[in-house]
Amino acid sequence: MSVLVFAESHEGAFKKAAFEAVSYAAQLGVKLGLPVTAVSIGNVDESKLKELGTYGANKVLFINNDKAKNATPQASASAIAHAAKTAAAKVVVISNTYTGKSIAPRVAVKLGAGIVSGVVSLPETNGGFKVKKTAYSGKAFAEVSINTETKVIALTPNSIPLTTVNANAEISAMDYTFDEKDFAVQTVEVKKASGKIPLTEAEIVVSGGRGMKGPENWGMIEELAGILGAATACSKPVADMDWRPHEEHVGQTGITIKPNLYIAAGISGAIQHLAGVSSSKVIVAINKDPEAPMFKIADYGIVGDVMEIFPKLINAAKDLKASH
Ligand SMILES: Cc1cc2nc3c(=O)[nH]c(=O)nc-3n(C[C@H](O)[C@H](O)[C@H](O)COP(=O)(O)OP(=O)(O)OC[C@H]3O[C@@H](n4cnc5c(N)ncnc54)[C@H](O)[C@@H]3O)c2cc1C
Repeated sequence: MSVLVFAESHEGAFKKAAFEAVSYAAQLGVKLGLPVTAVSIGNVDESKLKELGTYGANKVLFINNDKAKNATPQASASAIAHAAKTAAAKVVVISNTYTGKSIAPRVAVKLGAGIVSGVVSLPETNGGFKVKKTAYSGKAFAEVSINTETKVIALTPNSIPLTTVNANAEISAMDYTFDEKDFAVQTVEVKKASGKIPLTEAEIVVSGGRGMKGPENWGMIEELAGILGAATACSKPVADMDWRPHEEHVGQTGITIKPNLYIAAGISGAIQHLAGVSSSKVIVAINKDPEAPMFKIADYGIVGDVMEIFPKLINAAKDLKASH
């Protein structure tokens, strides 16, 4: 028996979410007294596969071939379910990323397992298996019991700290042949926004709302984001008015993010906006209206005109960077 974890990779490297999932699986393994097997699908070289051992995987199974490199969610789910059956996994841990969201439910179906997505902490295992998950777009938590023999956990990225161990994992190729049926639908072309930090993976996000007045003022948002190594985001009306691309829109109808720092400039803080950002660890609000709802969930608030405050913030960030 074991805990199985899927280590998601992109272009030959693991994502931070993969290390979080392995850290989580390792802690769960200690709790359940079970070893941890990590599965990597894609062309990840051996030195990088070893990194999974640092985060607590006892064993790493990998599939490195062209099919694995272009694996669809269906194909990844089939391979993970196969590995779970072979390793007699009691629990399968998958990060609840974009990719993970389309893989985890498929794995659960293939294993006849109960699944909980959006999990934010280790389960309570005294007399059952109860996990805490986000609910209502991050505005509440729910505690859910999984009663099936095999369990699938889709872990919210950025919800647990990375933990390392002083150990090496046993690394071996997985004996698995993909089924052509799992490649019925394939990505033909990927067009990437170059040089930008992906919003869902950013540790810091600088975001602007209608209070920024127009797209001509986004230079300030981009400059601060550049200094801080942050991604940029916006409120829905800003994307609707074509001031910014829709992939930057955060909130109920946009992307849900959970960065360590969210800076909201000229954003009122409507409930639909908060649904996508309220799980951020630290929130800084800049708004000229002291009654703006954004201040109610902010950890730090600056009341004033964003046009005056932003240049000062940019200078302070430059000074901070220069002093490090
Ligand atoms: C079904 C539904 C789904 C929705 N989904 C989303 C969603 O996913 N994401 C989202 O963001 N919205 C969403 N909305 C819209 C949401 O209700 C708000 O209308 C929107 O979030 C407001 O955007 P805003 O804060 O940029 O603009 P506004 O509400 O116009 O607020 C602008 C803010 O800027 C401040 N301001 C103005 N000038 C300055 C200045 N010079 N300096 C400092 N501050 C200034 C103002 O005081 C104000 O607080 C949705 C709405 C509906 C009905």
